Amino acid sequence: MSEATLQLLAGDPARDALVVGRVVLVLGGEPVTLEMAVPSGPIGFEDVLPILQGLTDFVVNRGVEVAESAGRTISCRAGCGACCRQLVPISQAEARALAALVAAMPGPRREEIRRRFAAALQTLHSGGVTREIDAAREEVTDSTAGLGMRYFRQGVACPFLENEACSIHPDRPLSCRQYLVTSPAAKCVSPAPDTIETVALPARPSRALLLADSEDAGVSWMPLVYALRYADEVPSRVPARTAPDLLRDVFSRFQDADGAERGERE
Ligand code: SF4
Repeated sequence: MSEATLQLLAGDPARDALVVGRVVLVLGGEPVTLEMAVPSGPIGFEDVLPILQGLTDFVVNRGVEVAESAGRTISCRAGCGACCRQLVPISQAEARALAALVAAMPGPRREEIRRRFAAALQTLHSGGVTREIDAAREEVTDSTAGLGMRYFRQGVACPFLENEACSIHPDRPLSCRQYLVTSPAAKCVSPAPDTIETVALPARPSRALLLADSEDAGVSWMPLVYALRYADEVPSRVPARTAPDLLRDVFSRFQDADGAERGERE
């Protein structure tokens, strides 16, 4: 069970560019207090992603501590990119952030990444998987078991995967941050049902963001490989909400976002 609240500590949203808030998270029954400065004016979910990334890393560390105290060892290592061939569900805010990241890359690299995105979509389309994805996107979920296995069998590497390592590690989506395993790495290369042991987390910020962002933007989850096409095709909206309002919305969904990690990206 997880809960979270956000309380304004300092600053006047009507006057100051930044306000300071205190977040109280209850993770696994234990209260955790964090303080953060956030912009006071209207912003989009993509603007609060750095805060949510930091919070996700914090939640993941808690999960790792619990797993290690139970005698389990994290198997994930640089050079093992098996999970980067899985279907990675992201929010529209994360899609826009990834598209902006690619747009800011030097020309040749940007074109190479765009080429990889296009090739990934083509392979998935030829394999009939995009049709399945589009049907599954009717539901707001980041649980993609079943479809995830069919996606994995297409062998489509994430366009950001290089030398079996993530080339955008500091900016990777929340779902990527949350995925750690303690089963042998070989099982991720040839996954079979119920053989991969993921690290259970006390909350899933990726799902809380998906729920809040999809309700706000009217766009459900999408696989990471849709990100550039989505950002090209759908104009971004003028932000109408403040950071404290957006964060309260995400945090209020932490309770809805509980659940087993297992299956999230399988
Ligand atoms: S963004 Fe990075 S961690 Fe996530 S699937 Fe792609 S290469 Fe892997």
